[in-house]
Amino acid sequence: SLQGKVALITGSTSGIGLGIAKALAQQGATLVLNGLGDPVEIEKIRADLAAEFGVDVYFIGADLTKTAAVEAMIREVESTCGQLDILVNNAGMQYVSPIEDFPPEKYDLIIALNLSAAFHAIRLAVPGMKARGWGRIINVASAHALVASPFKSAYVASKHAILGLTKTVALEVAEHGITANAICPGYVMTPLVQKQIPDTAKARGITEEEVIRDVLLYAQSTKKFVEVEELGALAAFLCSDGARSMTGIALPVDGGWTAH
Ligand code: NAD
Repeated sequence: SLQGKVALITGSTSGIGLGIAKALAQQGATLVLNGLGDPVEIEKIRADLAAEFGVDVYFIGADLTKTAAVEAMIREVESTCGQLDILVNNAGMQYVSPIEDFPPEKYDLIIALNLSAAFHAIRLAVPGMKARGWGRIINVASAHALVASPFKSAYVASKHAILGLTKTVALEVAEHGITANAICPGYVMTPLVQKQIPDTAKARGITEEEVIRDVLLYAQSTKKFVEVEELGALAAFLCSDGARSMTGIALPVDGGWTAH
């Protein structure tokens, strides 16, 4: 059980982050949610989680593309909850374009959110984890941390890079009861994927139905989208005592994609 533990899940107002938040709440963890979006909808998500799982649930609406906002978020978790035991770096964004047309400001944003935000959050969370002799760092990377696809240069670069960060941190904190791992999902039908279907159709000159069949599920041998519950279950396992020697690794949950 994760009773008495405090978990911060970035980008948890939607999709995979919300799925992981539910799985950790089910184990009794206190939750700190983060993300952008409509305050009324977010308050409903917060209150529903608290009611369903009987845990305390907080929300911090930090824009993690800004280093100062990451710093303020970690300080707020530690001052409000007294500790930060489980850090799930999940917030991320995608942009699909041939590299020669890739807007430089989109590249900077993707690197800031998908990579640098995790670096800053880890840098600030580790001292408290070391002091308490226990911690779990989970970076939500991607199958695109292990293999590439065309037209996703910034995303694939950020996801490959976060594996290097994960491994380095794992080595630095290994003697302190802290693990650091990366989860590498295949395609999950979340708003992040829904939004890229029209752009992928345009970049490849095919229809949206063809994008789903011939691009998204082409290498995913199950021919099914991965579900957020599967990623929640893995995150909960990584937080358990049984996973205490699993560190510095990348765990694909991709229906066989990266086995090709
Ligand atoms: P999503 O779009 O459903 O959710 C993204 C979350 O991040 C939301 O809560 C959003 O509010 C938040 N967010 C966006 N910009 C932010 C910012 N600047 N500051 C703070 N929060 C911000 O996406 P998702 O598909 O659930 O993706 C979550 C993670 O999983 C990402 O890192 C993504 O790269 C990764 N991933 C997704 C898939 C997939 O197929 N959906 C596959 C592999 C990896």
